[in-house]
Amino acid sequence: MSNSASSDLPEIGRARLLPHLPRRTLLMLGMGLLAGCATTPVRRVTRLPSPLWPDDSLLAAAPTVVTPPPAPLPPAPPMTGVIPRSSWTSGTPDTRNIDPMLPVRWVTVHHDGMTAFTATDMAACKGRLELIRNGHRGKGWADIGYHYVIDRAGRVWEGRDIRYQGAHVKDNNEGNVGILMVGNFDLHTPSMAQLAALDRHLRVCMKKYGLRSTQVRSHQEWSSARTACPGRHMQSKMNGIRRALA
Ligand SMILES: [Zn+2]
Repeated sequence: MSNSASSDLPEIGRARLLPHLPRRTLLMLGMGLLAGCATTPVRRVTRLPSPLWPDDSLLAAAPTVVTPPPAPLPPAPPMTGVIPRSSWTSGTPDTRNIDPMLPVRWVTVHHDGMTAFTATDMAACKGRLELIRNGHRGKGWADIGYHYVIDRAGRVWEGRDIRYQGAHVKDNNEGNVGILMVGNFDLHTPSMAQLAALDRHLRVCMKKYGLRSTQVRSHQEWSSARTACPGRHMQSKMNGIRRALA
């Protein structure tokens, strides 16, 4: 989670986000600014100018250039033991607003920080995933922010395609794999199956990317984050998790 105890929302720098806003959104923002300036006196025009453009050939000479967004990457090769993204969502990332993943140097553990969640059935877990993805998309982000999601039954789900940079730690998403532990660990503890799956998946990631246990962090261990994520009942286990990995 980010700065709020109620939701786990990764942060994207505003300066980076703005250039990627759709043209329509920028126009609406501009209109909003104009609406905020309504105290400016309005000078009334008594005669309208001619509706005819002086030289219609100028219009014909300026064709509209439409740049298509980059095509999404083809499906990533499946990682052993990971349930593919296609099993829980048909949503695709907004490829106009997403960067390729850089060489991996970190793994960061989160909780979702929403309501307490202790369900283990597939349908409920898929619903929680889609809820999180929709929340992130609704804020204008390209996709769900995390690369992997671990539920209370110990299943590992694919989130954002690992070949794309995640959106889960403010100012530190480069080369940073995001793992979400489903639930709110300020309200309840992670399950044993969930912790065991985290240990297994961290080992897979460390082997794949050549990482040490010191390169595994929780969200709040990033000084840029200023968050209570992954909750007190998960944070209290981080040192033990790293000791076991070492
Ligand atoms: Zn977090």
